[in-house]
Amino acid sequence: MGSDVRDASPPGGGIEAPPRDCSLCPRLVEYRAANRAANPGWFNAPVPSFGPTGAPMLVVGMAPGVKGANRTGRPFTGDHAGILLYQTLLRFDLASGEYRAEPDDGVALRDVRIVNAVRCVPPANLPEPAEVTACNRFLRSELQGMPNLRLVLALGVLAHAAVLKACGIPPARVRFSHGAVHTLPDGLLLADSYHVSRYNTNTRRLTEPMFEAVVQDAIHRLGWPA
Ligand code: SF4
Repeated sequence: MGSDVRDASPPGGGIEAPPRDCSLCPRLVEYRAANRAANPGWFNAPVPSFGPTGAPMLVVGMAPGVKGANRTGRPFTGDHAGILLYQTLLRFDLASGEYRAEPDDGVALRDVRIVNAVRCVPPANLPEPAEVTACNRFLRSELQGMPNLRLVLALGVLAHAAVLKACGIPPARVRFSHGAVHTLPDGLLLADSYHVSRYNTNTRRLTEPMFEAVVQDAIHRLGWPA
C-alpha cells in the first residue's frame, strides 16, 4: 500500500513545477524543439497547472494537445477537449467567466485545479510509459502540495494510472471504471471518467450528460450543493 502522499511535503514546500526547458524526456524535448521552430509564437513548453492550490478537487488529464494547451499554455485550452470540461465546470459553478478557448478569456477556477499527467505535448497525442514515469514527480508534488485536496478526477486510464503511481499504489489494486469513485488507502477519493477528447465525444463514448453526472457525483461527495 502506498504512503499517504499528502503527508510528504515537497522539499522547500510548495509545488515543484518543471522548468520551461525540462530535459527529462528526450523524445518530447525533440518534439518541443520542432514545435518551437515551426510555431515560435506558441507556448511550446511544459504546461503549468491551472487553478487554486487550496482547491479540494484536482482534475488530471493526460497531456497537452499540440494546438491546444501546447499552443496556449493553459491546460485543456484551445482544442476540442476543453469545451466539455470548461463548460461543465462553469455549469456547476466550479469556474467563473466565459470560456473562449484562450488563456486570456478571464476564466477563473473555484475549488478545482487542473493538471496533466504529462506536462509536455507528445507526438500523436500519446505519451510513452517512460514519459509518464518521468513526469510523475511533478504530479506527485501537486498532490502533496494541495493541503485541502480530497478528490481527484482522472480523465482516462492513463491519468488514473498516473495518479495511482504518484500515490505509490500498484495499478492492479484499483481498476479504471468510468463513473467509479475509489477511496484510496489514505482516504483520498479517486473518481474516474472517460477522457473529454474529441474522439470520445464524437463517438458518444462520453456524452455531455455522462460527464456532468461524474462531476455532479464528485460535488456531492465533497458535500457541496449542486
Ligand atoms: S513531460 Fe514532464 S518530465 Fe518529461 S520533459 Fe516534459 S515536463 Fe519534463
